[in-house]
Amino acid sequence: MSASKEHFGATTGRTGWLDASRSRRCPVCESDSWCQIGRGTYSGVVLCKRVASPREKCNRDGVTYWVHCDRDAVERRDAEEDHYEADVRRAPATVLDEAYRAVLATLRLDDRHRDNLRARGLSDEAIARGGYRSLHVDGRARAARAIERAVGEEAMKGVPGVVREQRDGRTWWSLRGAAGMVIPSLDLLGRVVALKVRADDAFGGARYTAVSSRRHGGPSAVVNVHVPVSVRERCARRRVLWVTEGELKADVCSALDRFAIVGVPGVSLWKRAIAVCEALDPRRVVVAFDADWTSEDPKKRHVREAREHLVTALASLGFETQAAEWPLSEGKGLDDYLLALRRAARRAA
Ligand SMILES: [Zn+2]
Repeated sequence: MSASKEHFGATTGRTGWLDASRSRRCPVCESDSWCQIGRGTYSGVVLCKRVASPREKCNRDGVTYWVHCDRDAVERRDAEEDHYEADVRRAPATVLDEAYRAVLATLRLDDRHRDNLRARGLSDEAIARGGYRSLHVDGRARAARAIERAVGEEAMKGVPGVVREQRDGRTWWSLRGAAGMVIPSLDLLGRVVALKVRADDAFGGARYTAVSSRRHGGPSAVVNVHVPVSVRERCARRRVLWVTEGELKADVCSALDRFAIVGVPGVSLWKRAIAVCEALDPRRVVVAFDADWTSEDPKKRHVREAREHLVTALASLGFETQAAEWPLSEGKGLDDYLLALRRAARRAA
């Protein structure tokens, strides 16, 4: 059994590793055995045991293999939506991008949300770049009309968040999602494929939720690893990629310290980061989940586990890996910690 199989043993359904066979030859060496071909989240990645690549690896049986990443295949996969969990009802990424950009164009950013972003350390320039908006309880039909104008009525049915409302014998298109601050979630190609909302009032539930129509029989939101603007070029230049949790946190760290950093939508979704690391191809990956992984609270054990799983999985694929550590007292998230460092430096100056 190869290291990759051990580490990714829990993968099920459409994501995982397939052994090369006569009907499914290794795309690198064209052999019908021994090599492994990724599918789902790993599609575009091949673990070939015959043809060398710069990323040489050794599995636990001492067998050498090489990681090959077919960039074209990764981009093709993104374009084909295979990358995202299957939801037959959902429109493809290019349509989502058009639809969500049309919504964002109808919304403004309230002062209280702008103040919140400034308090996190974002400059007005970074706030403009992030495309944040305020979503209110009213104005939903207008948002849906903007989507309809952008992509047409048929395609809009596949846009997560768009629902048909019905009241007093009247029906109309509307947009779902908590009232709060909207954070656009970008994919590897810079497309807005999901809208995350930081709810003004979480009512005891999740603070961050994606705009979705799943509860109304429509498509679920794309589970996307957020790739902030300019991450690609920074990663190509520095060959170091950071992985954190949350879209806004990734944006803030990206703005505060010019990191190449991506945000998984939740620590339990750590596996999603792998394909993004493969596509961006850094030499080193630094995993920077919240510092409460150090806490004794059993509710936080999953953070520690996710952190360990991701580091191990990336190491098995040939990346240099590192788990970032900082004292919890100096900030829970990497963004809090960076902001604390910046303030300390200003006081010292
Ligand atoms: Zn091969």
